[in-house]
Amino acid sequence: MPKTVQTCPSCDLPHVTKWAGASCLPCWKKDREYDLSKADLAFIEMQEAYVTASQGAKSGPSRASENHLKVQVKLLQQKVADRERTIATLRSEAAVLRRSSSGAQTFDQVLIRTLLTLCHPDKHYNSETATEATKKLLAMRKKK
Ligand SMILES: [Zn+2]
Repeated sequence: MPKTVQTCPSCDLPHVTKWAGASCLPCWKKDREYDLSKADLAFIEMQEAYVTASQGAKSGPSRASENHLKVQVKLLQQKVADRERTIATLRSEAAVLRRSSSGAQTFDQVLIRTLLTLCHPDKHYNSETATEATKKLLAMRKKK
């Protein structure tokens, strides 16, 4: 078996070995209660640095996905700009409608008062139609 990077079963850190399931050299020494040399400690530091570096490489975006993300950001920015234009259009339309509907309401109130005097049941021999129309007009007047 050629040498490959494997995970040490004792410390979970990577090391290069040709033996499957073998402990790394510092762990092998610890098992036999050998003193760890400065080189062993440096080796452990390298193992830890390797793990940190490979984790960073995994979580960080690759070149391809970075470009993909840039395209996505551009598309989303365009969508946002589109939505903002739509919002601005709707806002001005809403303002126009608010102005015109408030005008219509005051007109309606005047018209309702006029219609109320015109169709009062007293003036129509208490006809059912006049009573109904008056009721509806009164309801409309209350709303405002
Ligand atoms: Zn180990």
